[in-house]
Parts: sequence; structure tokens; C-alpha cells
Amino acid sequence: MTRWTYAEELRAKEIYLSSENYAAEAERALGRSRNSVISLARRQNWMRPAPAAEGQPRREGRCCRWPLWGDQGRPTHQYCDAATDRPGAAYCPEHAATARRVIPKAA
Ligand SMILES: [Zn+2]
Repeated sequence: MTRWTYAEELRAKEIYLSSENYAAEAERALGRSRNSVISLARRQNWMRPAPAAEGQPRREGRCCRWPLWGDQGRPTHQYCDAATDRPGAAYCPEHAATARRVIPKAA
């Protein structure tokens, strides 16, 4: 295992922050294996800023916290954000109903 230089780490982090497909891009740009890029990201505990941090003001309080899922079942790291119908409720009425859906008893 070859040690990462500081410059390589900076470049890898830049790629990590700018691309969903960072491992493949860092592999091309730095000549490191995808696995070593992924383990570097884990070791360094890199995190992408939440989408809410970019532009849209973060709404506190009465917003639905139902997580949205994108294509191929991958999380989008966004919430439904519709208004809830009472203070302290986690979900909007529609998602509250989904969350409480009763599972029919087996016959
Ligand atoms: Zn909702």
C-alpha cells in the first residue's frame, strides 16, 4: 500500500465533494484503485454537505421528515418537507398515513 501524499489527498477530496462517482474519477485522475480511494474517504470521514446547505434555507419545525428516495433505491438525502398538520408531528398527513398503514393479519 502506497501512502497518500497530502496533495493527492486534497485532490481526492476535491473529487469526492464534486462527484457522486468519485471513486472512478479519482482512480482516473490519481492512478489509485477505487478501493483505496473509498477507504481514504472513510478513514478521513469525509462528508458531503447536505443538499439543504446549498442555497435553500433550512426549514425547522413543521416540515415532513419523510426521506425521499431516488432512482435505483438510492437515498437523495432530501425530505418531503411538506407541512405537518400539528406541532411535533414527524410527517405530513399523507406520509403519516403511509407510516401508520396497518399490515393485514395473515389469514
Ligand atoms: Zn411528507
